[in-house]
Formats: sequence, C-alpha cells, structure tokens
Amino acid sequence: MNCSRRFLVTAGPTIEAIDPVRFISNHSTGKMGYAVAAELAARGTEVVLVSGPTAIEAPAGVRRVDVVSAEDMYRACMELWPEMDGAVMCAAVADYTPARVSATKVKKQDGGFSIELVPTKDIAAELGRTKREGQVLVGFALETDNEEANAVSKMERKNFDAIVLNSLRDEGAGFGGDTNRITIFSRTDGPNAGSGIKKATYPLESKAAAAVHIADAIDLWW
Ligand code: C5P
Repeated sequence: MNCSRRFLVTAGPTIEAIDPVRFISNHSTGKMGYAVAAELAARGTEVVLVSGPTAIEAPAGVRRVDVVSAEDMYRACMELWPEMDGAVMCAAVADYTPARVSATKVKKQDGGFSIELVPTKDIAAELGRTKREGQVLVGFALETDNEEANAVSKMERKNFDAIVLNSLRDEGAGFGGDTNRITIFSRTDGPNAGSGIKKATYPLESKAAAAVHIADAIDLWW
C-alpha cells in the first residue's frame, strides 16, 4: 500500500446528445468502475472518479467528477492525468457522437431519419500516448468474439500495462449485474523485470471481488 498514490478511474456510460430530448448511450451502469474506485481507496489510494451519468453513489473517500459526454470525459481526464500515478479506464465511452446537436427537438417526419456520427476521442489511447515513466495504465475490453486476441492487441495499441477482459458471451458478466468474470493480461516488463504478457483467469465473482483482483494486479506491477 502506498498512501501517497493517486489514481484516476473512469466509469459509467457517456451520453451523446442528438437534440435536447434524445441521446445515444449504452448499457453501462458504472458498477465495475465504482467497485475498482472503492477498492483502490480502501487500499489508501487517493482516487478521482470521472463518471458518466449513473444511479450509484461515489464510494466513501473518493472524489467524483461528473461528466456527460465523451468530450467532457476526455477533457476531465487529460487535465487530471499529469498529476496521477495511474489510471483504470472502466468507462464505456461512446465511440461515435452526432456531428451536429440540434438546438431544438427534432420533429417527427415522414420516411427515415439519419444522424451523421463522427468518432469521439479515444481517452485511454491518449493517456497511453502521453504516459510518463512510472505511470500505470489499466484498460478494459468488453468483447463478444475473438476475446483474447482483441484484448491483447488493444492493450498494445493503447499502451496499457494491463487489460481486464470480460466477455459478453459469459453469463453473469458484463453490463448491469453485480457479478463479472474477468481475465487480466498484464505486461511483465515493469519495474519488477521479466518480459512478456501474464494471463490470470478468475471465476464468476462479485464485481467487488473482481476489483480486488484488479487492485492486486496493480499492486504487483507497481
Ligand atoms: O476500443 P475499446 O472501446 O474496446 O477500448 C476499451 C478501453 O478503452 C476501455 O478501457 C475504455 O474505457 C477505453 N476507452 C476510452 N475512450 C474511448 C473508448 C474507449 O477511454 N473513446
């Protein structure tokens, strides 16, 4: 345990406005990210939780920064990152956002309706690109197919030190519920030497228990 350690945790969905009434979002409830924030805080880490809209309360001792859109989350994270010793990216950030937000409610019209979408910024990849020596970056991968290969390539592409894989194919894993089944891939070329990628698989367990394993992996790497 390191009492002066500061970590950024992202959690929850982002909401991308179409007009003042409608939006694009996803099924994330934020439970996994909040569990990670709680576990790190319980280990004496100073945690800043950058959270999209969720129905859950910030864990005790955690500073929560509320954001709505992917762009808001990007700005909050980029501002915090230089001060942090590490980050765990649990948020389900929208990959696309409407190119234009209508200032007034879009009226129903005959025929179809299309929305032009543009890509959002990849927050995790940007933290990975600007990561300095000593900072630890952990990402998540929620996959539906080719799970392991996708997770490992994501870890390399985004310069993560570890990636937590959960598959939507596993019953009890993924969005909403209180359980998860995770596999953690971590780089072993950290301060404690070795090289390559370590793989640790865990059974279906509570999100709180999964958070303990994620925090253990961070502590080992640390
Ligand atoms: O590429 P993909 O969205 O599957 O990557 C998942 C990881 O990247 C998660 O850790 C997620 O929080 C993070 N991410 C992000 N910003 C984005 C997209 C994903 O931080 N715009």
